[in-house]
Amino acid sequence: MPKQISAELILDAKATLGEGPIWDVRRQVLYWVDISAGKVHIFDPATGHDRAIDVGQPVGTVVPRRSGGVMVALRDGFAALDLETGALTMIADPEAHLPLNRFNDGKCDPAGRFWAGTMRQAEDRAGAGSLYRLDPDGSVHKMWDKITVSNGIAWSLDARTMYYIDTPTRMVVAFEYDLATGAIANPRPVIHTPDGPGFPDGMTIDAEGMLWVAYWDGWRVVRWDPATGQALAVIEMPVQRPTAAWFGGPNLDELYITSARTGLSEEALAQQPHAGGLFVARPGVRGLPAFEFAG
Ligand code: ZN
Repeated sequence: MPKQISAELILDAKATLGEGPIWDVRRQVLYWVDISAGKVHIFDPATGHDRAIDVGQPVGTVVPRRSGGVMVALRDGFAALDLETGALTMIADPEAHLPLNRFNDGKCDPAGRFWAGTMRQAEDRAGAGSLYRLDPDGSVHKMWDKITVSNGIAWSLDARTMYYIDTPTRMVVAFEYDLATGAIANPRPVIHTPDGPGFPDGMTIDAEGMLWVAYWDGWRVVRWDPATGQALAVIEMPVQRPTAAWFGGPNLDELYITSARTGLSEEALAQQPHAGGLFVARPGVRGLPAFEFAG
């Protein structure tokens, strides 16, 4: 039986589509986004203070940037965001020809390349997204296509494997990863949950190489061993739509979990009043410092 872990509400944010938590080890704050509200949040657990920057369009994810500020993947492409002024600097828009597409989840690899994928904001979205890599020199490379809802992405501790989730497949796949070139090859399923519960969304990896996957409509976050496909631990959530998890705090042992309210009925929201909140769990393992964008 997987170990049972509880999570507590730390910020009653009532986000529409909270996503993309990531800890900035230098500033000791948690960044997260409300995708549909177009907001980048900066949460300081030491004070409980949460500040939001309106970026004026859907924002799929946020990552720290080595040269200062953060990088975001927006509806209209990759951009740099100045956290003091809120100024956006657009870097590249690889899907300018696809106005219904927007960026969704993404993270940096250990070499500081920013990976993020897209999805179509329409009913007929099957296979309409792609996965891109923004290199530190500003060049953009389409790395995979025919993706429906591009989501969690993480690298193994030896950086020889890239784990990836296209949500409707209900799988975590492992690509062979070439850290020197940023090339991916030979995806194979390592975790497959065709019968649910829910759909795999955001993902992070811990210091023991185990994956933490949030399950949209699954009321849980699960810790998986990608070598065996076994569930090691389950965080039962008081909300239906947890979206992603990331380790933060001074010791990187606090697991922050975002969630969503979008699409839930009034009745459902009455039963899960903290939907859209930010939660924290202490599972007894540590995470890793986030890789920063090196450009
Ligand atoms: Zn997601």
